[in-house]
Amino acid sequence: MKIFNTLTKKKDDFTPINEGKVGIYVCGPTVYDYIHIGNARPMIVFDTLRRYFEYKGYEVNYVSNFTDVDDKIIKKANAEGVDSKVISERFIEECKKDMASLNVKEATTHPKATEEIDDMIAMVQTLIKKEYAYEVNGTVYFRTRKFSDYGKLSKKNLDDLRAGNRELKVSGQDEKEDALDFVLWKPKKEGEPSWPSPWGDGRPGWHLECSVMSKKYIGDVIDIHAGGEDLVFPHHENEIAQSEAANDAEFARYWMHNGFLKIDNEKMSKSLGNFFTVREIGEKYDLQVIRFFMLSAHYRSPLNFSAELVESSKNGLDRIKTAASRLEEVMGSGAEGAMTDAEVSNVAAMDELVKRYEAAMEDDLNTADAISIIFELVKLINTSVGDDTTKEYATKAYKTLELLSDILGIIIKEEKGLLDEEIENLIQERQDARKAKNFARADEIRNLLTEKGIILEDTREGVRWKRA
Ligand code: AMP
Ligand code: ZN
Repeated sequence: MKIFNTLTKKKDDFTPINEGKVGIYVCGPTVYDYIHIGNARPMIVFDTLRRYFEYKGYEVNYVSNFTDVDDKIIKKANAEGVDSKVISERFIEECKKDMASLNVKEATTHPKATEEIDDMIAMVQTLIKKEYAYEVNGTVYFRTRKFSDYGKLSKKNLDDLRAGNRELKVSGQDEKEDALDFVLWKPKKEGEPSWPSPWGDGRPGWHLECSVMSKKYIGDVIDIHAGGEDLVFPHHENEIAQSEAANDAEFARYWMHNGFLKIDNEKMSKSLGNFFTVREIGEKYDLQVIRFFMLSAHYRSPLNFSAELVESSKNGLDRIKTAASRLEEVMGSGAEGAMTDAEVSNVAAMDELVKRYEAAMEDDLNTADAISIIFELVKLINTSVGDDTTKEYATKAYKTLELLSDILGIIIKEEKGLLDEEIENLIQERQDARKAKNFARADEIRNLLTEKGIILEDTREGVRWKRA
């Protein structure tokens, strides 16, 4: 598989550290509120990466943290007059609900920063011992200039960075040796959660959390580190500095970053008011549609969220689901016996589509191309399935469609019942059966509809239906 590696700025061939295994660390959300649809993009994209690796037979160790100590959490807790933990636990639970609705698998481990404080203190101690860190008045800073590779991920030049940071010194933050030094441990302030440490009561810096949690749950060297592109600098650059200085080993071999989700072509932000939580969007759309929408673009491209684009994803997803339920029907009612020659050659064409789908996914997780191949499959299904289709062919086609959808985390089985169009087709089929005096079939259809929660009412104007 080829992965565009932010570190090398090119598509690199993926080779795992340990054969057949892959360790993936994805920076997770800060839990002070419901997650927004921008946060959902890395969740969906990297969950799809995980599913693809699993499809290829890899054992995946997928780790994604919750940042549960942070200024925003503390601010909200103080406003509500509760402990920070009340806020973070509440929104971790809500986030997990949203992830489930988006069909994002639970991580192998979802570590929480506040439960890993001892290991964070240990890493800071190591860094101090190696002179990569120093303490001033209860704050521990990372000595950036000592880490000669600083800037290797973001391709930033240290002198430019330093010039840009000069005003910090002027504004009084001059206890640091260098404007580029960043915080590993900060002292407690009134009303803030804190933990005892050799430097006094305090709490860890944000960057430190990920270095420590990825080391603990994956190892010193991780295969793939991922997150949104806003995290490249300073967050990921600082993670590299901390981990490589502490562990004397390369931190992550491949760095993947998703592009940003925008709204109506503008940057999504709370202040502009163009900001939606996953929960709000879930009231308007099935979140499967949102998942499908997110995967319809390449993960590194910016993606614009607009009602029209989501609507078009909804239509696309409906087309796939309609083909799936047609196949399900034929799997029950189709012809017995061996496939026809035409069906055999269509199955060969499907196998070719699977190969092309894999090639798209192998090319830096090109889900946009993978989806267009699914549509080619739908077209082949729609043009090849008719009244005399064999059960065997319908089953093979269904399995192929299910496989390709499943890798993207798209569920094709209609759990919530039938689509309107399918209901109307079945009602028509029932009317035709009655006209032909095939009452057994007519009853069968009525029973099927009842089972799916559809109530029929025979009126003088024709058949009316409603959902139970
Ligand atoms: P945060 O809680 O802000 O640290 O964000 C959690 C994850 O969501 C990070 O990987 C961010 O890069 C990502 N993220 C935040 N906003 C967006 C957005 N608008 N589009 C895509 N990813 C985003
Ligand atoms: Zn991180």
